[in-house]
Amino acid sequence: MKRIGLIDVDGTGRFPNLVLMKISAWHKSMGDTVEWYDPMFSGHFDKVYLSKVFSFTPDYDYPINADEVERGGSGYCISLVNGKEVFDKAKNKPLPPEIEHIYPDYGLYPELTKDTAYGFLTRGCPRGCVFSIVGKKEGRCSVKVADLSEFWNGQKKIVLCDPNILACRDWKDLLLEPIDSGAWGDFTQGLDIRLMTEEKARMIDRIKVKEIHFAWDRYEDRDVILPKFKMFADVTTLKPHAHKAIVYTLVNFSTTLEQDLDRIYTLRDIGYWPYVMIYDKEHAPKVYRRLQRWVNMRSTFASVKRFEDYKEGAKKRELLAMQRTGPSKSLGACRQNPTTPFLSHEK
Ligand code: SF4
Repeated sequence: MKRIGLIDVDGTGRFPNLVLMKISAWHKSMGDTVEWYDPMFSGHFDKVYLSKVFSFTPDYDYPINADEVERGGSGYCISLVNGKEVFDKAKNKPLPPEIEHIYPDYGLYPELTKDTAYGFLTRGCPRGCVFSIVGKKEGRCSVKVADLSEFWNGQKKIVLCDPNILACRDWKDLLLEPIDSGAWGDFTQGLDIRLMTEEKARMIDRIKVKEIHFAWDRYEDRDVILPKFKMFADVTTLKPHAHKAIVYTLVNFSTTLEQDLDRIYTLRDIGYWPYVMIYDKEHAPKVYRRLQRWVNMRSTFASVKRFEDYKEGAKKRELLAMQRTGPSKSLGACRQNPTTPFLSHEK
């Protein structure tokens, strides 16, 4: 019997680390003991695993009292090259199948997983978004990798972390699983609105969802995306109004501020709620943080109709400069979700 320690390097407190939950479950199934590593009180371990999802999270640099230490996760695979994040596949360590497909040890995060299951039905995405590592890490095809029963056992809520479930050729069977479960579903990574059809919309409408997420990242998708949003609102009973349809809106990547505002106003006009996500937030011009605060604070966004009227520290000169030059395209991360590597979509 081995003594196993775990370190959730990101430790966001908002999302459980799915990999650590699977590692824990597997070791327990082998008869090992598993506990969180505590440098002060834990003592010696046979093996300690560190998992890091986010590239911007500093690594755990302290000495670790263990015979063996293993680090893994996308946070260790991404580096900055010429100001852009690059995923190094050689550093990627996929879990062995017997761990990847084990029922997670939700007991590691009792609060975050209260009556909630987390997992992936599919992996991979055919889109090659430059700001996403999904294609490089998981492949340029969305393929089924699990049944719901692999990570769901009657919980009231299911958080599906699939990067692009609608791109999978098995999408119909896959959507039936959360429908039949009767549980609340949450497509936490968003759905690819460009792939939406009336048939898909009707099936999604049969899933119990409190909120649904899409994305509109590339301005040039405007003519494809807008009719899809309208169709989705027409076909489903889940009316976008009432804060139920959120659209991730990536800024500071390939759009100008003017285009960002156009997306934001347009989404609001058709009844969807934009949710601003800043590429390379750490180095982004300040105007994007203000934009994010204005849009993402629902009450403010509802009461202040125009960005120029949002007073909180608004600096008109900076705003005008941004309109002239457009955003920086330097390094950064887009939507990142602790369950997958990098996340984000254009969904
Ligand atoms: S951002 Fe979304 S649509 Fe783009 S490659 Fe990543 S998962 Fe696919």
